[in-house]
Amino acid sequence: MQTIGYAAQDTSGHLAPFHFDRRELRPNDVAIEILYCGVCHSDLHTARNDWGWTTYPTVVGHEIVGRVTEVAGDVTKHKVGDIVAIGCMVDSCQHCDQCLKGEEQLCREGNTGTYGGTDRVTGEPTKGGYSKHIVARQEFVLTMPEGLDVAKAAPLLCAGITTYSPLKTWGIREGSRVGVTGLGGLGHMAVKLAAAMGAHVTVMSRTADKQADALALGAHAFLVSEDADAMAAAASGFDLIIDTVPVKHDLDPYLPLLDVDGTLVLVGQIGPMNEMNTVPLLLGRRRVAGSPIGGIAETQEMLDFCAQKNILPEVEMIAMADINQAYERMERSDVRYRFVIDMASLDLAEVA
Ligand SMILES: [Zn+2]
Ligand SMILES: [Zn+2]
Repeated sequence: MQTIGYAAQDTSGHLAPFHFDRRELRPNDVAIEILYCGVCHSDLHTARNDWGWTTYPTVVGHEIVGRVTEVAGDVTKHKVGDIVAIGCMVDSCQHCDQCLKGEEQLCREGNTGTYGGTDRVTGEPTKGGYSKHIVARQEFVLTMPEGLDVAKAAPLLCAGITTYSPLKTWGIREGSRVGVTGLGGLGHMAVKLAAAMGAHVTVMSRTADKQADALALGAHAFLVSEDADAMAAAASGFDLIIDTVPVKHDLDPYLPLLDVDGTLVLVGQIGPMNEMNTVPLLLGRRRVAGSPIGGIAETQEMLDFCAQKNILPEVEMIAMADINQAYERMERSDVRYRFVIDMASLDLAEVA
């Protein structure tokens, strides 16, 4: 199937129209016309090969909402016309202990990324959601619940599940004390989801600039990390801190804020961090952890939870052609809080 997307051709990360083919349907496949795709920091990192594993041309995008246009013979989970979604994975081994537990993101053989992965049948690089169509096996195609605004929901597929999963892993519930650092695409979802679970949510930031925004998103408190008195008063006051900051940074100010057995979980920065002082870690029996997205069942649970609680990301809709400018703005944190590409702006005939 011929389609069109936007691809980066080199480490400049500049995106431009690109024609390519989606595979013919395998017996278990669903074909989807993409309606919306969220813009994640990982897209930018991949387009520029910041992590060293990009193969060009690369079509990124893994916050995908679309409509089913065709299903192959073995598909039972979806039918033509259904509104569906795809997140960060399109395949896994389906037989290891992690896959059998529904933790496909931790597949022992490695999950297949929606973009930049390797197709498990053809060995070709996978291409993501900055495109008009996508084909995926039915197990990795999620059902969009009724009542979730399809134009805004796309960022749930990465930003949503990336913050929902650690909240579940660390048992957040009514009365839990949750801190969130980094109030961007991930951070603003962490605030909304944790608050909806009944937690007492505090946004932590270097300055007070984002205080009004944090409270408007549903946070109960705001902590300025450069305010030594406020930080001292908040010591040992948190069960979980979700650290969404997507660049190398300093953990030392935050570790003393954790209660005994409390956890700071990294979900933003993939790569080196600043040197860490382990004194508060050891003496307070505190933990630093990481967490990657979530499994398919948990992602579906998150979508259903968001529909039930009426939780949606704050989005700014853009046209596909605006993507390079959007990347520049995202680098300056000049977005509240996630760009979503309206794929209707991408015309199949746009480029000959
Ligand atoms: Zn992402
Ligand atoms: Zn597996």
